[in-house]
Amino acid sequence: MRYDVTRTTCPYCGCGCQMLLEAMDGKLVSTMPLKETDMNGGKLCIKGLNAHEFVHSKDRLTRPLIRENGRLKETDWDTALDTIVSGFSRIKEQHGSDSLAFFSSARCTNEENFLLQKLSRAGFGTNNVDHCARL
Ligand code: SF4
Repeated sequence: MRYDVTRTTCPYCGCGCQMLLEAMDGKLVSTMPLKETDMNGGKLCIKGLNAHEFVHSKDRLTRPLIRENGRLKETDWDTALDTIVSGFSRIKEQHGSDSLAFFSSARCTNEENFLLQKLSRAGFGTNNVDHCARL
């Protein structure tokens, strides 16, 4: 049996608590707070303590879905991205840039969040961009 411990940052909010993920045979099995850090000093909130659980969830989306005739259907990434680009472009053309809004996630990295606001402002011309950690 293989056992690994990996230091990482909690994906749930912007506090940046440090944690250790335990894996057995490549599967995450627990989350532990990192003691040697000023950020969270050996503690995690209830969300952080369960941060490993969504990774292997059977309900997790692993492929893009497109709604057709009221039903969600699996598709490939190129088709999904083409659908998003054409849909967003049509909405912008018909109703203006501020008819669009972008909402990012605490589960994304800082770099991914930066890119989303860049896409919103520079790509589609709207400042309607927000993040779930602000709610
Ligand atoms: S452990 Fe809780 S407070 Fe710390 S980053 Fe995760 S969600 Fe935020």
